[in-house]
Formats: sequence, structure tokens, C-alpha cells
Amino acid sequence: MRNTWVEINTAALAHNVRRVRDYAPNARVLAMVKADAYGHGAAACLAGVQDADALGVACMAEALALRAAGWQKPIVLIEGVFSQAEWRVALAQNLTCVVHHETQLAWALQDLPHRAFYTDHPPTIWLKLNTGMNRLGFTANGALKVARQLHTAGYQIVLASHLANADVPDDPYNTAQITLFVDVLARLRAELGADAVQASLCNSAGLINFPEVQFDWVRPGIMLYGGSPMVDVAPQALDLRPVMQFGAAVMAVHALPVGASVGYGSRWQATRPTRLGVISVGYADGYPRVVSEAAYVLAEGMRLPIVGRVAMDMLMVDMTDAQAVGLGSTVTLWGDGLSVDTVASWTNTLNYELLCHVGTRPTRRVLT
Ligand SMILES: *Cc1c(COP(=O)(O)O)cnc(C)c1O
Repeated sequence: MRNTWVEINTAALAHNVRRVRDYAPNARVLAMVKADAYGHGAAACLAGVQDADALGVACMAEALALRAAGWQKPIVLIEGVFSQAEWRVALAQNLTCVVHHETQLAWALQDLPHRAFYTDHPPTIWLKLNTGMNRLGFTANGALKVARQLHTAGYQIVLASHLANADVPDDPYNTAQITLFVDVLARLRAELGADAVQASLCNSAGLINFPEVQFDWVRPGIMLYGGSPMVDVAPQALDLRPVMQFGAAVMAVHALPVGASVGYGSRWQATRPTRLGVISVGYADGYPRVVSEAAYVLAEGMRLPIVGRVAMDMLMVDMTDAQAVGLGSTVTLWGDGLSVDTVASWTNTLNYELLCHVGTRPTRRVLT
């Protein structure tokens, strides 16, 4: 059988949740498991995020899958619902919605949650304030007006916004966004009462770089999976552990003479007699097609340079200096010893995108 796998380590995930608690001891944790838990598999990840206070997803299908898998604590739809019918499903499933637009506000005011669902606390709604990302959310004045309406309708409000440059701590844009957020929050609390309004501003980079604005809820994503939110800080430096091991095996070994070329476009040529290994992974499995000359895989603790173009189902490595590696040897594409962040540094993209793009073809295993 083709030996290509993704292994999910839920103990590493639980460790990373504890790291979030270390960074944000006074905030509740909304663990972001959107996009199938950044490609890790949301259901597989549930065992690792048991200690989170809530889960965050991007759409209804993701939320319903988590309810079906047994998650009982809050689930926040971070883009809210896309129709009135969906709003009603959200009510029936006890899902918490973001409201970022007038249309959503109308639905939320028309169908109010049945109080019977919420015995010990009022129904919560997240109100998105646009502080400068300019993607979703109300203006400051719009948010104040909407908050009054939601408050009157009986909702508990979580004022939420998102930082555009949280991974660059000294970018002055952060200060501008934080200042606006703090100002709107203060005005809301003054008007509606401090208890009526909670707040949430920080993703992974934000909660690490701006501890003073962690507020009531932090929203970590990438750091839960062991990726660093800052390109210039390694995950090991933050004591984050990789949740995903992405591996494959050597499926063929060849001796190439000097001058032989390898792969599509004949882009690489042997400049010495070369022991070539063919690895059972390609871009259809989620390995990036375009990587720099620095790219390598790990086997037996050695770095095997990738040579030639990565193909759909295979990639080739130079094993000349790694005699201990042979046919059937397993290799690490990313995981322990080789972070996805390092692989991302050989490409035009980020750890986030590489994780999300891991395909369905590799065999999946979950370690609990
Ligand atoms: C995805 C997302 C997060 C998590 O961001 P990370 O950078 O992965 O920590 C937080 N908040 C919102 C609104 C998001 O969409």
C-alpha cells in the first residue's frame, strides 16, 4: 500500500491549549477549529480541545458536525449566518452567532432565542466592530446603535474585532485598532453596563504580542496546532508542539550517473553519482509544488534535499549522503524535527495554508 499519512497528536493539541492558558490566564479560550481544524480534522481534534471554553467555526456545516461529534459547550459561528433559515438552525442548535451586517441584525431581532434554552445566562451574540481590517463589521457608530438594539432584545453582547497586523507587534496600525476598540468598548459599557458587554480582540499573534488587550475571550487558531503566528519566531521558541505529523516513505531508489536529470522540466541535474530516492507524496497530498532549493525532508535524523520538481504523487530526494535511508524508510515532511513553519519558509505561503491544504488521500491516524 502507498505509505503516506497524516497523524494527529491530540496530546500535543492539549499541550498547546495549556500554552494559550499560560499566555492568557484570565481570558476564556475560543479555540478556532474552522476549516476542519486548519486541515487537522475537527472531529479528530475534539479530544485535544476539551479544555477550551468554546469552539469557533466559519460556517453552519462545521458547527453541526461538531454538535454531532458531541461537543456541548458553546460554538461560535465567526461569520454569523447567511440566511434567516440558518439563523433558525443556529437557535435550534444553540449556536452563538457573530452579527457583522444589517441583514443578520434583522434576523436576530425577528426570531429571538427561546429563553428555555438559556436557563443560567442570557443568549449571547457576538457583535463585530470594524476597527480597520475593513473586511467585516460595523463602524463605531453603527456598532453602538446595533448594540443598543441587541441589548434591548435581551442579548448578552461580546464586542469583537480582528487585528490586521498582530504578527508585527510594532506596527502602529495595531495601536490604532486597539485604541478604537477600547474606546467603543468603554462607551458601550458606560451605556449598557459593564456586565452587559464582554470583549474579544486577539487571535494567536494578538494574545502573545498584546497581553493587555486579551479581554474576556481570546481566539487562538494557528498556535493550537503548533504553528507560530509570527514568521520570524519559531514554534519551539513559544513551546508549541506540532499536532500534525505528515509523513511518507521511500518507494524507489536509483543510482544516477553524473548529468542525469530528474523530474518534469528536467530542472535538476546530477553533478555527482547520485543515490536518488522517490518519496510517495506529491502536491495532490498537500505538499507544496513550488519549494526553494533549501527544501528537504527528514529521514533517520538526516536532511534529504528535494531535487527536481515536486509532482502530483511523488517527489524526489538526494540520498547520496544518507546511506542509512533506503527503500521503505519513512520520511517526515513536517512534524517533529521539521516544523511546517520551516517548510512554509521554502514557499510563497504560510504554515496556515500548508496545513489547510493537506489532502484527503493520505491515511489519517489519530493519537489520543
Ligand atoms: C481564524 C481566526 C482567528 C484565529 O487566528 P490565528 O491567527 O490562527 O490565531 C481568530 N479570530 C478570527 C475572527 C478568525 O477568523
